[in-house]
This record gives sequence, structure tokens and C-alpha cells, in this order.
Amino acid sequence: MEMRAETLEAIRRSIARAKKSEFYGKRFAGVEPGDIRTESDFIRLPFTEKDDLRDAYPLGLRAVPEADIVRIHSSSGTTGAPVIIPYTQKDVDDWALMFRRCYETAGVTREDRVHITPGYGLWTAGIGFQLGAELLGAMAIPMGPGNTDKQIKMMMDLHSTVLTATSSYALLLAEEIQRRGLRDKIALRKALIGSERWGEKMRRRIAGELGVELYDIYGLTEIYGPGIGISCERECGMHMWTDYVHCEIVNPQTGERVGEGESGELVITTLQKEGAPLVRYRTHDLTRELPGECPCGRGYPRIDTLIGRSDDMIKVRGAIIYPSRVDEMLAGVDGVSSEYQIMIDHLNGKDILTLFFETAAGGEAERGRLEKTVEGSFKEKIGLTPRAKAVGMGELPRSEKKSTRIFDNRY
Ligand code: ZN
Repeated sequence: MEMRAETLEAIRRSIARAKKSEFYGKRFAGVEPGDIRTESDFIRLPFTEKDDLRDAYPLGLRAVPEADIVRIHSSSGTTGAPVIIPYTQKDVDDWALMFRRCYETAGVTREDRVHITPGYGLWTAGIGFQLGAELLGAMAIPMGPGNTDKQIKMMMDLHSTVLTATSSYALLLAEEIQRRGLRDKIALRKALIGSERWGEKMRRRIAGELGVELYDIYGLTEIYGPGIGISCERECGMHMWTDYVHCEIVNPQTGERVGEGESGELVITTLQKEGAPLVRYRTHDLTRELPGECPCGRGYPRIDTLIGRSDDMIKVRGAIIYPSRVDEMLAGVDGVSSEYQIMIDHLNGKDILTLFFETAAGGEAERGRLEKTVEGSFKEKIGLTPRAKAVGMGELPRSEKKSTRIFDNRY
């Protein structure tokens, strides 16, 4: 995304603020904001990695006096120490402003009732959805995750019109509503789905079974939380609020900028954050910048639907496997659902990949035929032959958190 003079100026201010933290004070000891005169000066600055944030635990990222911090959030991660992000009142307010912009982009109004299923607490998701909805003037229904019976009851009794959820939880709710035959009793018209990488087939199922328009909302705890970008009615990528965040796309292996429109890893620099400014933070989300203007006319630049995470890429017998490619492959096979699970094992000196997929087909023969079809399609699209195993619909786990679908048991 091209850098304008005012962006460069905002970056210089952000670096000056960041340097007041213990972490950037050391990292940028030899860097003066005034040294950053051009884009090429900027891209010579080192990346900030999640491990840097972990090492700064608990409050090494704090860039303002203690008294100015009004809240913290924390991203857990599956391993290692948590990351703590301190927020000033302005950070909290800015986040709500961005979130309101997301709702407006999705066509949500003050008349809407927003059913919020992401978690509350140290994790940023729930409270962000809530503050944005309240700022807009809509009615927030702060459910939090879990208790599907209660979710569906409240959804019916309160006539929730907007669902906010992770894609896997939206799918679980959609399936449950379908199974209980309650589709006519719910009033949902839109769903804002947290931006995990998710396949087209899953999208179509959630949209179809709930009868809603879907919007992808982007964000991460380290940078405010969800709400720093969202897709629009044209469904072509997500608009990013570049007055708050500067985005770059880099090659995840080399760290070099990719060419225009090429896929790579999203790297974000905060432009207005006070509590914990971040400079060139590696998100590990893989996407690309979409060139040109969106037909919707909104001037904010767009990134494409996420294709995966750079740390999700898995190499098996020389083939690189992205979860998104598996989604695409399954989307092209009739008679199987969007859900899958992959197990990779090392047996007798060889890596073995087993792919479990769901099908409504009951008979042995038909399942066997589908397994052969999936194996062939996997070989053709991804480059190696798996062992495919059919299981019944709903047998693979759905989770309320981001789903883990690949289990690498080789190490
Ligand atoms: Zn648009």
C-alpha cells in the first residue's frame, strides 16, 4: 500500500511514542524519528515479532505513564508466556470508532440487535464488538461463547438481527438451528465473522443455513483487536482502516516487500496507538493487497480474504500444504462437507498424511468411492496422495475458538 507524506509523518510520530517504552527504547536506541525520511528508510527498520512481545511481559510495551493506562488485554497463544497490551482511553475510544465504522460498512444500524458470541475478558473480541455496537446506537446482546441452547433461545426471544462470531461457532449455530428446524423463528439478517481463514464452502453453508449476508472482520489482539478492517457488500476483500494502521505485505521467508498484488505476510504499524504502539509487527496472516479501487467507492485500501497463516504452512514429502488449499479442494468435491481434519504421522521411515472428511453418504461402497475421489483431488491440487477417511456429518469437532484442523505428530 503506497506511502503518502502524511502516513510517513504518522509513522514518525508513532516511532517517537514507541521509543518511550522499555522494549522500543532499546530496539530503536539508534533510531531517531527524523531519520525516517522515505519509505525505504522505514522498511529498513527491523520487524517486531510476537516473541518480542512475549519477552516484554508483563508491561515492557507500555509507552505512556502508568496512570494513563485504563485497560489491558492479553493474547494467550498456545505456547509460551502471554502478551499483554496496555490501552489508554484514546486507544479504547479509537477502537470503538473503528468498530462502528465496521458495523456501518456492513449496513448495521441503530435499529439492529447485535448478538455477540465471541469471548469477553482478557481476550479482546467480545468487548470490541460491544463497544462498537453501543457507539453506533444498536442494541448489544453480550452473550459470550458457549451454551448453544441459551444462545438460540435468546436469539429467538430478543429477535437478534446481527450475529457476531468466529466462523466455526457460526457454523455450529447454523447447523443447530437447521437441525432443530428453527430457521423461520430467527430474525438474523447479517453475520460479522472473525477473520479466520475460512473456505468458500463453509461460507456458503453459514450464509445459506442462517439466511444472512456475511461480512469478514479483521483484527488481532496485539493491534487493538478485531475491527481494524472489514469486507463490504461487494465481497471483494477487506477494507483496512489505514488512518489507524499502516499495512505492508512481505515475503514470509525473506522479509522483502512483495510485488503489487502478490501474496505474502501482512505486517502492521500502528499510527495512532498510545498505550503500546507497534512498528512493523508481523501478523503471520497470509493475504495480498487488492489493487485498484473497490466498486463500492470506499477509499480505504483492501486486503484479500486470508489464505492462511505463515506458521500454518506444513511441509509433507516435499509438498507445501496451506489449510486454504484443502478448503478449496473439498469445495470442489460433491457429497462432502467443508469440515476436515488432517493427521500427519511418521511411520516406518515415511510421512503419512491422513485426511478425515465428513459426508452424509452412509453405504460402505459409496464412502469408499468418495475416499478415492478425495485422494485423487488432493493429489492433483496439493501434490501428494493422502489416506482419505470418510466420517459421518457432525463427527469432526466444531469449536468456539479458532479451529485447529492439522495435527502434526511427526516431532
Ligand atoms: Zn468495498
